Amino acid sequence: MRSDANIAGPMADPVPGPRTESYGEDVSRETPPPMDDTPIGRAAQLAVEALGRAGEGLPRPAETRVIVVANQKGGVGKTTTTVNMAASLALHGARVLVVDLDPQGNASTALGIDHHSEVPSIYDVLVESKPLSEVVQPVPDVEGLFCAPATIDLAGAEIELVSLVARESRLERALQAYEQPLDYILIDCPPSLGLLTVNALVAGAEVLIPIQCEYYALEGLGQLLRNVELVRAHLNPKLHVSTILLTMYDGRTRLASQVADEVRTHFAEEVLRTSIPRSVRISEAPSYGQTVLTYDPGSSGALSYLEAAREMALRGIPGSSEFKQFNNEHSKNKHSMSEGIQ
Ligand code: ATP
Ligand code: MG
Repeated sequence: MRSDANIAGPMADPVPGPRTESYGEDVSRETPPPMDDTPIGRAAQLAVEALGRAGEGLPRPAETRVIVVANQKGGVGKTTTTVNMAASLALHGARVLVVDLDPQGNASTALGIDHHSEVPSIYDVLVESKPLSEVVQPVPDVEGLFCAPATIDLAGAEIELVSLVARESRLERALQAYEQPLDYILIDCPPSLGLLTVNALVAGAEVLIPIQCEYYALEGLGQLLRNVELVRAHLNPKLHVSTILLTMYDGRTRLASQVADEVRTHFAEEVLRTSIPRSVRISEAPSYGQTVLTYDPGSSGALSYLEAAREMALRGIPGSSEFKQFNNEHSKNKHSMSEGIQ
């Protein structure tokens, strides 16, 4: 299958998209339903086909990879990337926890997890020191995928955290005390660089930055990179930007390819080869409380997230062709990532 192709080009959804077929109820699909017509059955079948490795999952990392999905610019695809990468990794056989660290609770919604104000949530973990295990819920329809939901209470946490001890490391402590075995923890950050995002950067080892392929894409990125450098210098020496993912890529516009070229020039090693096309199915899925992997597993959006997740997973496996040595030495020897970026 496509291992090194940028699958955004020919597979991108046509806009407007007349090729929608309707398969009953109110769900429209790009692809006809296959034989095993359950969400997990369809997704697993297409995942296996997409990867061309029947029955085999991906190798699991030796230890839990904690990945912070951050970009203080709003609406660039952080939440979409968090939930769809997480679901893809789970479909590849990994055990994955999504931590929703955004008071909007969009990741919880997209994963079909109830998050009204009575639900035990990540707020209770950060502010009330409740054990993480008491708020984590399994995600319906995707085996191996779990979510620590966010409720609107979290909106007050930025202020409440200020007066608490160890205010920057409360999430890190909660993750360390969590005893369930996990391969990946993905943390969905709000569009700001406040204490919630700092907690994520202290808790994680890797930063995944989604970048939307549009004008101003790199604006403000320097501030995020400098924050990552500050947290690394003072609070968390293992932190590094491991992955950049181009999202909402429309291969037919010159602007998108110019932005993609610019990002790849600045961050040659970090950018995944796979980019995510602009896809109506991706944007529809959250309103059904689903990821695109279960909503329309054969769509270009689903396949691109499966491929991106595979690439990211293999980068963490020594000996794989995707493996890159993103360790502290690498980061120290490299010029500052934020150089030349505003
Ligand atoms: P915020 O900063 O508010 O948290 P975000 O960075 O998490 O936003 P998302 O919520 O993931 O961004 O995406 C913003 C909007 O773009 C959403 O409506 C989402 O459905 C849509 N979207 C994301 N990725 C795609 C895509 N590849 N194709 C089409 N629409 C997309
Ligand atoms: Mg979001």
